[in-house]
Amino acid sequence: MSKSTRVEFPRMIRGSVVVQRRRCGTPTCRCADGEQLHESTVLSYSQDGRNRTVMLAPEEIAKVRAAVQRYRAAQSRLEDQGNAGLAALLTRRAAARRAR
Ligand SMILES: [Zn+2]
Repeated sequence: MSKSTRVEFPRMIRGSVVVQRRRCGTPTCRCADGEQLHESTVLSYSQDGRNRTVMLAPEEIAKVRAAVQRYRAAQSRLEDQGNAGLAALLTRRAAARRAR
């Protein structure tokens, strides 16, 4: 596959990586007594007001965690910038009021 057609792994992903533990439903399975549940690592996210999950392949987990971390860092920086802008506007407003 050429580089231009390959889908790059996303740099940022919204959601949380969580480990789910559950029974599979097979009565004879080791999970049936509730002691040894099946574990799967999923990305949990909300869309259209619903919580959803998508199963992650073992080789995806570290990359997804990193992308979630990048998203959160970017979101936090954006929030800081927005708050700084708000504070600056309020300061200007107060200074203008004092000058009158
Ligand atoms: Zn099972």
